[in-house]
Amino acid sequence: MVKENLSIVEQNIQTACKRAGRLREEVTLIAVSKTKPVSMIQETMEEGILDFGENKVQELTSKYEVLPKNLRWHLIGHLQTNKVKYIVGRVVLIHSVDSYKLAEQINKEAVKKEIICDILIEVNIAGEKTKFGVPAEEAYPLIREISKLKNLRIRGLMTIAPFVDNSEKNREHFRNLRQLNIDIKSKNIDNVTMDVLSMGMTDDYEVAVEEGATMVRVGTGIFGERDYSI
Ligand SMILES: *Cc1c(COP(=O)(O)O)cnc(C)c1O
Repeated sequence: MVKENLSIVEQNIQTACKRAGRLREEVTLIAVSKTKPVSMIQETMEEGILDFGENKVQELTSKYEVLPKNLRWHLIGHLQTNKVKYIVGRVVLIHSVDSYKLAEQINKEAVKKEIICDILIEVNIAGEKTKFGVPAEEAYPLIREISKLKNLRIRGLMTIAPFVDNSEKNREHFRNLRQLNIDIKSKNIDNVTMDVLSMGMTDDYEVAVEEGATMVRVGTGIFGERDYSI
């Protein structure tokens, strides 16, 4: 099943790239494996996918332990400061930084481990009450502050778009996030590269690719529906 699903997702990404005049290489597909067993991740690896996303620290670290070390783990869920130590050094990118306090803790851990940690700033682009992430207008001031932390590199922005019945409704949100990324990039801040835009999930990744996503996070579309009851 994973193999068939992957080939559909891959085809859709290619078609979306073509429509937008983009190169397929500009978009990284992150397979969101939360709640799914290690065996399914192995199946996915066999199809050449190396980027995996998890939203829980405990689940990520236990999968990290048993899987090959060439996998590229992405933390995409909310991160509590007391769990930062388990994540820094194990993931290639933390997508969900939305406060200075959290960034400070990540930096502290990166200093201790003598590494530079790549992060994205999570933006609540549609201003939904229930979502994590900073409001769009707070992204730039927050990035200015965080950029002073020497062991962090701010690679760009991430958003979780609203749940909608038609993915076209999220197009303007993706467009706004891309514009925000461009605006901040133009400020040329040290430690801030703004070359990554993490947006688009199973229901809207094609629209996100058309609007400039460089990373799409697809779970259900690859692994099938999640069962939270087990
Ligand atoms: C679960 C999750 C995804 C994947 O969602 P699907 O709709 O299953 O593709 C993407 N991003 C984040 C932050 C998630 O928590």
